[in-house]
Amino acid sequence: MADNYFKKYPDKDGFYGNYGGAFIPPVLEAEMKKINDAYYAVSKSHSFISELRSIRKHYQGRPTPVYYCNRLSEKYGGRIYLKREDLNHTGAHKLNHCMGEALLAKYLGKKKLIAETGAGQHGVALATAAAYFGLECEIHMGEVDIAKEHPNVVRMKILGATVVPVTHGLKTLKEAVDSAFEAYLKDPVNSIYCIGSVVGPHPFPMMVRDFQRVVGIEAREQFFEMTGELPDNVVACVGGGSNAMGMFSAFIEDEECALYGIEPGGRSMNLGDHAATMSLGTPGMIHGFKCYVLQDAQGNPSPVYSVASGLDYPGVGPEHSMLKDLKRVNYDVINDTEAIDAFYELSRLEGIIPALESSHAVAYALKLAKKNPQQSILVNLSGRGDKDIDFIIEKYGLPK
Ligand SMILES: *Cc1c(COP(=O)(O)O)cnc(C)c1O
Repeated sequence: MADNYFKKYPDKDGFYGNYGGAFIPPVLEAEMKKINDAYYAVSKSHSFISELRSIRKHYQGRPTPVYYCNRLSEKYGGRIYLKREDLNHTGAHKLNHCMGEALLAKYLGKKKLIAETGAGQHGVALATAAAYFGLECEIHMGEVDIAKEHPNVVRMKILGATVVPVTHGLKTLKEAVDSAFEAYLKDPVNSIYCIGSVVGPHPFPMMVRDFQRVVGIEAREQFFEMTGELPDNVVACVGGGSNAMGMFSAFIEDEECALYGIEPGGRSMNLGDHAATMSLGTPGMIHGFKCYVLQDAQGNPSPVYSVASGLDYPGVGPEHSMLKDLKRVNYDVINDTEAIDAFYELSRLEGIIPALESSHAVAYALKLAKKNPQQSILVNLSGRGDKDIDFIIEKYGLPK
């Protein structure tokens, strides 16, 4: 891997090798350029950095710990460690980039944060950031998702956000993205669009990665302090790829650390039953950037599915797409059943109820541990599972 990785990627046009960029209408392109220029100017300033540091420490509760899983390691072999993003405020890693994006909005004099949400996790994190900074918050959400994700809709409203129901097309995430972009383009001076992962047009994949780097930087230092070495393996789940990119970025230049990005295998490997973009997709274009895409012959994104709603996106971050081609990260698949089993294993052996998304990474770690009992494994536990418990009990019940 190249030295100076972060100076090299992305390039000035937002490309990671063949992936990324900004393939968007001219008005939007101009806005993205403004955000990009402002980001470079502001985010390196002492006042921005020290304010973000203070927020992370006093508001989010960072650094989150790294935890050694004694009973899990005893049962499966290996030495399994968790980076506890479930203990970050609001219970997942998403707040890391939402606080960064909202702080940038404040520096730019914006009054309103606009975003789409699918399962509602990004909406809740952004509504939290908006409340902290006293900014307005408008979350676009498909009507189908509003009905499915009632608790998160209520959370957003309690936090003071406006939830805009999207009533056209399939009434899910894709329509919500279009609707949010439209709303943003009506008032780009006073508002800012806040993307929820390392996806979308440049500069968002870069900004979101940079705001998530804190996860990897902390974890690398904590792991070294605990063990005197770097982990043999680092594992994270990949939806759009923000928690994985935050974690991997700290280890990318350490060739001796094997990196694993885990995608959802859903209920089968048939198209429509999974969201294994990297394993089964092909290079293409989605939402204004190039990446691996699950697509049909016409280049339309395929329907996707996973038991973990935070992982079901037919595209993936451009940087992951490049890291796959460079073979620096291994991308592999965990299906619904394996994720549910891991959900219960971690709950019962360690007293930690993981998010279903994170359970995919845990499940893969258990496989690795069995295969390589002499090695260490650091897992990014991207979030806690409270949001998933009603669904799991209803659909799967308790294990025998
Ligand atoms: C949203 C979410 C993910 C997936 O998003 P990435 O951008 O791939 O990290 C993973 N875990 C949790 C807990 C989430 O809420």
